[in-house]
Amino acid sequence: MSDTLQKFMFDNSLVRGELVDISEAWRQVQLLRAYPPAVGAMLGEMMAAAALLSANLKFNGTIVMQIHGDGPVKLMVVECDAALKLRATAKLADGAQVTDGTTLQQLVNRHGEGRFAITLDPADKLPGQQPYQGMVALDGESISTVIENYMMRSEQLDTKLWLAADLQVARGLLLQKLPDEGGKALSGEADTDAWNRAVMLASTISHDELLSTDIMTLMQRLYWEETLRVFEPLHPAFRCSCSREKVGNMLKMLGKAEIDDALADLGKLEINCDFCGRHYGFDKVDCMQLFVTSTLTDAVQPPGNQQH
Ligand SMILES: [Zn+2]
Repeated sequence: MSDTLQKFMFDNSLVRGELVDISEAWRQVQLLRAYPPAVGAMLGEMMAAAALLSANLKFNGTIVMQIHGDGPVKLMVVECDAALKLRATAKLADGAQVTDGTTLQQLVNRHGEGRFAITLDPADKLPGQQPYQGMVALDGESISTVIENYMMRSEQLDTKLWLAADLQVARGLLLQKLPDEGGKALSGEADTDAWNRAVMLASTISHDELLSTDIMTLMQRLYWEETLRVFEPLHPAFRCSCSREKVGNMLKMLGKAEIDDALADLGKLEINCDFCGRHYGFDKVDCMQLFVTSTLTDAVQPPGNQQH
């Protein structure tokens, strides 16, 4: 079965929801690297969260969730673009041992120095435009709590998340209460209690139930008494956006001196994508070309005018 994201709305209310199953994409992420269960659960949940938030935004670009951890997990990165193409990776500290049941705080915030950033990187950036980045406080025992708090603080939006992942499955449910701008959004008898009911019913599903039940069954089980507007399902999938050109740009940013040093040591640069494992080789000639293809504008720019 392919991965699915199902959006729905409670009839005559400002409550919207999304259920997602990205198990297939999550298993593909793990073809490259096996993770200890506690790390896998967290990364899988982050992937589900990224898909839910991405589908929820009117934003043509990529959501990047990045945690720089100070515990056994050094780095976790999840990206999801507007077409719901996902990729993810995690890096553990050398020799790190992670036992089952290790908590989020123990994994990435052991000394209170973990950093979690959510970046919105527009697909069509204007020249000089910087991606938007928000810092997420790592104040909770689960990814869902941490993101709920962030959404409340940064967007003033009531958002509830239920996430569950193991090494096979990654699923999630998002509920959101939209602001009623001037009370005009609804006609006639507005269902003002829908939010309370939606959250209360969702709170009855256990973590294990979310892991073991497909999302259509879950929607039925939770909301069979409700009138829902159900949208066309969307299909998230794993896809890596790496390319030879992007790797070349990264090498260019390191600078010619650094590259020459590395070439002198290694003879050839071998780069493997952290997300998909694709291999990129740059020999001396390839590297030389990186630095001679600079545009005329670069060549004539006076040294004092360069931006760093
Ligand atoms: Zn890649």
